[in-house]
Amino acid sequence: MPQEYDVLVIGAGTGGYVAAIRAAQLGLRTAVVEKQKALGGTCLLWGCIPTKALLEHAHALKVVQQAREWGVSIASGGSGAAAVSIDMTQVHARKDRIVNGLTKGVEFLFKKNKIDWIKGTARLTGNGGVDVFEGDKQGLKARREIIVATGSTPRSVPGVAIDHERIITSDDAIHLREVPKTVAIMGSGAVGVEFASIFRRFGSDVTILELLPRLVPVEDDAVSIELAKSFRKQGITSHTGAKVTGATATAGAVAIDVQLADGTRQQIRADYLLVATGRAPVTTELNAEGAGLDMEKGYRIRSSRTSRPRKALSPRSALPDRPRARSTTITFRGAPTAIPRSAASASPSRRRARAVTMCVSERFRLRFSDERRSPVKPTGS
Ligand SMILES: Cc1cc2nc3c(=O)[nH]c(=O)nc-3n(C[C@H](O)[C@H](O)[C@H](O)COP(=O)(O)OP(=O)(O)OC[C@H]3O[C@@H](n4cnc5c(N)ncnc54)[C@H](O)[C@@H]3O)c2cc1C
Repeated sequence: MPQEYDVLVIGAGTGGYVAAIRAAQLGLRTAVVEKQKALGGTCLLWGCIPTKALLEHAHALKVVQQAREWGVSIASGGSGAAAVSIDMTQVHARKDRIVNGLTKGVEFLFKKNKIDWIKGTARLTGNGGVDVFEGDKQGLKARREIIVATGSTPRSVPGVAIDHERIITSDDAIHLREVPKTVAIMGSGAVGVEFASIFRRFGSDVTILELLPRLVPVEDDAVSIELAKSFRKQGITSHTGAKVTGATATAGAVAIDVQLADGTRQQIRADYLLVATGRAPVTTELNAEGAGLDMEKGYRIRSSRTSRPRKALSPRSALPDRPRARSTTITFRGAPTAIPRSAASASPSRRRARAVTMCVSERFRLRFSDERRSPVKPTGS
């Protein structure tokens, strides 16, 4: 007999763990299936938190290098710039301590809210069924909801094969134990420019290769202009309108073929090529289509036997006092959110703000599918 829960969450990233905690607080028996050894997903393990820790270290290095300007006295420092270097072992030890503290914090919240953490990889089997086929293998059944919060993973472009040695992603870059002499970064979105700052401040020569005409192309023009100025000042080389047509890793280096904005072709050599060209949804292991979901672009549900179309996800209809038709529903969380037409005509920054608001509000939303059940009140209220 499969173990039964009211709510099953697949994935313990920011989307999944917040939803699970909220479900448990509302009195629902909840379990989370997570394939990593720790809770927290991309943000805690390889994303927001570790990158901010590295930025903090890079900033600390800058302060010590420019101690006098910052008003910091170093006894043996002499008069000019202090002779300092960065100890990457210590950097990673501190970063890992921060990450561990936060993942343990999520673990504590799971225990406190009586959420079962099932360690393994899950796939959908249809009709509320979930099969954990790796790790703690078992069958699970959702009486009410399955929340799919499997997140995203870095993706490359044709001609650039990620080998995780010389041609790397942000997941690899976060664990690099050396400060590379030279790094090329393909893509200047949030991830690309964040690593450009980190590497440059640690002392690497950094070259950004961006296909579109400006840095951070999804931000407002003014942001791109300011960032380009700041990067120039820091000594980061940026090529915009530059198309990477191929990359070949050799022992200890990578050769990158680029067509620059003026049409000329160049080969750039670097110790590493960091591919930061966007992310793809993690849905291949899910058996979503096998479970009856008609998927679009790997994450959007077009229509299905077991779920309602996204249109039904308006904030009002999601409230517990609006009972829905009887079925086990599947909610996709954390994946890119469709932007409503009214927001699509707004400026890029307003559009992003709307999208962010929608994601945040979705995190706190639960859908109730059985009209015969009374709405669930938060425990203790
Ligand atoms: C380098 C970097 C820096 C970032 N910095 C910021 C920042 O400063 N601020 C910010 O707001 N955002 C930042 N982000 C984005 C942020 O990390 C993501 O938006 C967030 O992690 C998405 O959460 P999620 O729960 O949707 O997915 P994820 O965090 O990716 O979680 C998905 C989880 O599902 C698990 N999983 C997948 N498939 C299965 C399966 N079949 N069975 C069981 N488990 C499964 C995965 O192991 C993973 O733990 C950054 C991202 C990166 C890469």
